[in-house]
Amino acid sequence: MATIIDGSKLSEEIREELKEEISVLKGEGITPGLTVVLVGENPASQVYVKNKEKACEKVGIESFKYTYAEDLTEDELLNKLDQLNQDERVDGILVQLPLPEHINEKKVIEKIIPEKDVDGFHPINVGNLFIGEPLYSPCTPSGIMEMLKRYDIPLEGKQAVIIGRSNIVGKPVAMMLMKENCTIEICHSRTQDLAGHSRRADILVAAVGRSELVKGDWVKEGAVVIDVGVNRVDDKLVGDVAFDEAKERASAITPVPGGVGPMTITMLLKNTVKSAKLRAGKI
Ligand code: NAP
Repeated sequence: MATIIDGSKLSEEIREELKEEISVLKGEGITPGLTVVLVGENPASQVYVKNKEKACEKVGIESFKYTYAEDLTEDELLNKLDQLNQDERVDGILVQLPLPEHINEKKVIEKIIPEKDVDGFHPINVGNLFIGEPLYSPCTPSGIMEMLKRYDIPLEGKQAVIIGRSNIVGKPVAMMLMKENCTIEICHSRTQDLAGHSRRADILVAAVGRSELVKGDWVKEGAVVIDVGVNRVDDKLVGDVAFDEAKERASAITPVPGGVGPMTITMLLKNTVKSAKLRAGKI
């Protein structure tokens, strides 16, 4: 029977640690600040933004929120980001994605200065991750690595198979696992014999967005399974892995919900505190 990797509990522990660290920083006159920018009325984005605000408040990070109507122009958004780049109170800037179609996502990501890019999406931060010296790593992959570390899961020499090659999950988590001396395989929608690749994995990461794509018999006996997927099925959240089957073969597995999800915001808070410390010359 697998160990269930409890992302909610771990997240709480890390947030407690951050709260203490922030309280010390505040005593020294440093208040970490995170700005979230939301354009349009995507209901999921509104929930994510609210959760980020609440999480900031709980640990003592000052949060600033700017919400704009769907018809905000690209120039207006870029100008706002210019201002936020200069704003001394702001350590981290996050623009909630997706953006309305008329706004070029790439231009927006590149407008945020790398020092305040706590999402780790700026090409400079991506490049630094690639060469193994990240300033900020993207939050979901960082959360995965933190879970593996805190559950003492050995990585060196292990075969890691990542299903999904997105810029925000698949590719960065592959880089991070390689840095920890895993041998990596990255699979995607054109991969042939996905089940065969999966069965070779000591560490299997599914970041696809297809409910229960990974069947129990795709999981090698004793593998560690990280399910990043969040899929809504009949008003329930379901992962990319058939959890009940997979847990019978895995040595450890993340549930959905309560696995990777809560860790993502926690890593955002962590990156914001790191930015505040960097700005204050503390690291
Ligand atoms: P994405 O950008 O849509 O990428 C999905 C990847 O899966 C692509 O590389 C795609 O291949 C691959 N894929 C699609 N169908 C496949 C199939 N049948 N077989 C093999 N590979 C397939 O998604 P994402 O942003 O990485 O997110 C993935 C999932 O994680 C989603 O459910 C998302 O909601 C969830 N997520 C959760 C968190 C969290 O905090 N828990 C954070 C981010 C994302 P191609 O490249 O060939 O198209």
